[in-house]
Amino acid sequence: MSAPDRTHDPALRSWVASANRPDHDFPIQNLPFGAFRAASDAAPRCAVAIGDQLLDVSRIADLFTAEASAVAAALAAPGLNRAMALGHGAHAAFRAQLSALLQEDERARRPAVEAALRPLQSAQLVLPFEVRGYTDFFASIHHASNAGRLFRPDQPLLPNYRYVPVAYNGRANSVRTSGEPVVRPHGQLKPAEAGAAPRFAPSQRMDYEVELGIVVGRPTAAGEPLRPGDAWDHVFGFCLLNDWSARDIQAWEYQPLGPFLGKSFATSISPWIVTAQALLPFRTAAAARAPQDPEPLPHLRDPRDHARGAVAVQLEAAIRTAHMRQRGLPAHRLSRSNAADLYWTVAQMLAHHTSNGCALDTGDLVGSGTVSGAGDGALGSLLELSRGGAAAIDLPGGEQRRFLEDGDEVRLTGFCEAPGHRRIGFGECAAVLAPARPYGPADSGE
Ligand code: MN
Repeated sequence: MSAPDRTHDPALRSWVASANRPDHDFPIQNLPFGAFRAASDAAPRCAVAIGDQLLDVSRIADLFTAEASAVAAALAAPGLNRAMALGHGAHAAFRAQLSALLQEDERARRPAVEAALRPLQSAQLVLPFEVRGYTDFFASIHHASNAGRLFRPDQPLLPNYRYVPVAYNGRANSVRTSGEPVVRPHGQLKPAEAGAAPRFAPSQRMDYEVELGIVVGRPTAAGEPLRPGDAWDHVFGFCLLNDWSARDIQAWEYQPLGPFLGKSFATSISPWIVTAQALLPFRTAAAARAPQDPEPLPHLRDPRDHARGAVAVQLEAAIRTAHMRQRGLPAHRLSRSNAADLYWTVAQMLAHHTSNGCALDTGDLVGSGTVSGAGDGALGSLLELSRGGAAAIDLPGGEQRRFLEDGDEVRLTGFCEAPGHRRIGFGECAAVLAPARPYGPADSGE
């Protein structure tokens, strides 16, 4: 993938007036992809967000030519997978033509495009692609150290961390889009006292994790590992990701094989996928490794990736409790961190993922792991903010939290800013934690 082009020009303006507001997430320089239902009984279709509008792209498919028309045709499908598989050449052509259609000086084709717009606010957004596989990494050394200190005070960072981009395989079917409530899971909870037996009950230590999701476009073949320098060819785009976590279930189950039921009940993603192309102006140097750290092994090492392989996405987490909603209080920001602080780059994660011959499929979702940074303002989970539940967090309205309570809404947002470029955003990934259901199979007698 190449350098920023005309579509990234900060001077570009759209005839969709809301897209020109300086604080808007979806200016003409962004053009993120999603999917929606035109009516509750209609099949989903793909869309692009522009300002406060959604563009029903398949309705204007005949306006695209050459390579871009293949992308436009693929967007008539109920999800992005077919379009994502096409690769960056086609995506760049589509982006250039779509940008031209939406630019302020477009006259002839504007009425046709205008007829395919609908207000975002009234749109029913759905999961933007069929999630084929879900892998979650652990790429923030700040998070790994903070969390490790709580679970293992004597050895916060395990010896493999600086060599292996650590991950676990999650459940693709746990992924849902923003807005869908998350039900508090049941699980085995083990009291801290030595010798105490576990009990089976709703989790008492519910948490969120602020993450960046990587969405795989072009697939790879089994047995063909990716080099870091080629990995970006397979990245379609990025979303916000909340890896909901039941810390008590996780703490009891995670050794020796890693997270399982403490994570597999729910993962929320934002409805809009910001493309790798839209993010080109925000690529930056990977975080510096400490002088005493080992070099990555050769198959994970690439000087060009180190120089420009990080993506500077500012991520924020906020909470709004039921009480805060009743009182009309706004969401309270809990953290702000930056994906550029990750210890492992996107390319290193994908190179590692495929290094044993494992294939990547179109529609694979790869989480970065909790994005935390240095300092108390950059902690991407309650586990870290409350020091494992030891310290309460004060909220506006007089409430406190150590972990999430029923009715709490967790809202993730993300945006990119760089001198000389238009700010772009990710929208939001929000969900309310719903109370545990009575345990057992659903009553089929009704
Ligand atoms: Mn995670």
